[in-house]
Amino acid sequence: MTRTQGTQSTQGTASTKGTESPTPAKSYRHWIDGRWHEPAAGHYPVIAPATEEPVGLAPEAGADGAEVDAAVRAARGAQEEWARTEPRERAAVLDRIADLLTERGPALVPLLQAETGATAKVASGMQMPTAADRFRRYARGALEPATVPLAPQPVRASALAPGGLIGAAAVRRPVGVVGCITSYNFPVVNLAGKAAPALAMGNAVVCKPAPQDPLSCLELGPLLQEAGLPDGLYNVVTGSGAAAGEALVGHPDVDMISFTGSTSVGKKIAETAAKGMKRTLMELGGKGAAVVLEDADARTVKSALGAVASTWAFHSGQICTAPTRVLVHSSLYDEVVTALAQYAEALTVGDPADPGTLVGPLISAAQRDRVESYVAGARAQGARVVAGGERPALKPGFYVAPTLLAGVTPEMTVAREEIFGPVVVALPFEDEDEAVRIANGTPYGLSDYVFSSDAGHAWAFAARLRSGNIGINTVQRHPETPFGGFKESGIGRDGGSFGLHAYSELQSLVWPS
Ligand code: NAD
Repeated sequence: MTRTQGTQSTQGTASTKGTESPTPAKSYRHWIDGRWHEPAAGHYPVIAPATEEPVGLAPEAGADGAEVDAAVRAARGAQEEWARTEPRERAAVLDRIADLLTERGPALVPLLQAETGATAKVASGMQMPTAADRFRRYARGALEPATVPLAPQPVRASALAPGGLIGAAAVRRPVGVVGCITSYNFPVVNLAGKAAPALAMGNAVVCKPAPQDPLSCLELGPLLQEAGLPDGLYNVVTGSGAAAGEALVGHPDVDMISFTGSTSVGKKIAETAAKGMKRTLMELGGKGAAVVLEDADARTVKSALGAVASTWAFHSGQICTAPTRVLVHSSLYDEVVTALAQYAEALTVGDPADPGTLVGPLISAAQRDRVESYVAGARAQGARVVAGGERPALKPGFYVAPTLLAGVTPEMTVAREEIFGPVVVALPFEDEDEAVRIANGTPYGLSDYVFSSDAGHAWAFAARLRSGNIGINTVQRHPETPFGGFKESGIGRDGGSFGLHAYSELQSLVWPS
């Protein structure tokens, strides 16, 4: 039985307890060209996952795309001058943004927590501080050399030009106006991961955060302005459906789309973007495998258990990189499944505002229903529910119990499709060829993890995984690594200096020496 906490009540009785909305039904407007902009189509409510009550009213962009157009025009108008500023000036602005995020971040945490349903630990420790870190990192990024020197080459005279020693360099230039479309889960962190490197490189951004949790992204508008960011460089337009995102992708004056979200939406965006040859950065879905090799000793197995449990305890599994499939050598399978089941049952599910809560709600009723239907489908296909599987007796809130499914085969839907919730599937393997086949057997390739007591062995095994990111005996991240996916998990890389490259075009310069 999963432990529950906070807003427990009997089925059917709505309680008003839970995470309090910090600014009940506050009405927001789009942030365009350094000003609040009244929405053309009114507002829609942003619902708190823990209380099912409105956190605030988000602006609804009109179907004609006029607000997106206004934001793109503002961005275009501001971008060229920004690109011509001294890198140290851009660095100073980004540094001040990081300072303000650090100073004001704690005040924004209640809003962030209310709209995302993140636990206190995740909301206070991993959202605003991480967003501040990203601006700080790309303040330094603005100062990174944008010129790649190339050795002069003797070139023969031709009908084209006289010969001689020809000098050359490749220089990174900003792409221009970048449309940033993000997923729910870590709204400010996701946006900072795009806006900070894009601004550092001299671009302007028009952001379209996810409909479920856009409010804190809107709150950043005045904060970035106060930090000295010129008007027009950071714009936010929101909407409850796909229209605002579609208008941004289809806008002829947007040079690049940086997208974080599902693979299915990513494919639609790529299709539209291709028509205008827009640059794209695609951070898409995942179906991470944690592979526990035969040589894993007790300490390594323990690390694997903690890593897999992060699928439940870290934002209720609404994480693209989560190790949602645990692939275990058959000699260790029963031991790992038993231990994971105990782990899942011990996690406290409940009101995310309660410091003791480890597993908060999912973002919406729709997402909870989707996750539940995957579990029901797995049962129907013959999988065994060894932990969770039932809706927790908590109301209000969109809760799903940490769930572990065993007896899963690689062909089952739950072993192939991204669930984006606190559900782990456990599959046994007999040898490493089979482990590789299962691990690589989905359309995704974002993040996998290898657990072995021999790091050299794990390193060699990693080479066989078709995945952009591999953790060896850890799910920890390194902020300087290139982050992105193989296969249908995306195109391009951000992270560290790779993030700067993603938001730039290479220009070659050639001259006679
Ligand atoms: P989603 O694809 O449903 O929505 C993402 C964004 O796209 C939202 O802002 C949405 O409004 C917008 N959108 C929807 N249709 C659009 C269209 N036709 N044109 C333009 N924009 C459109 O994703 P979600 O449910 O918000 O987030 C969950 C997904 O995000 C999961 O698949 C998860 O793996 C992925 N994700 C990936 C990463 C990564 O870095 N790879 C990080 C976080 C989340």
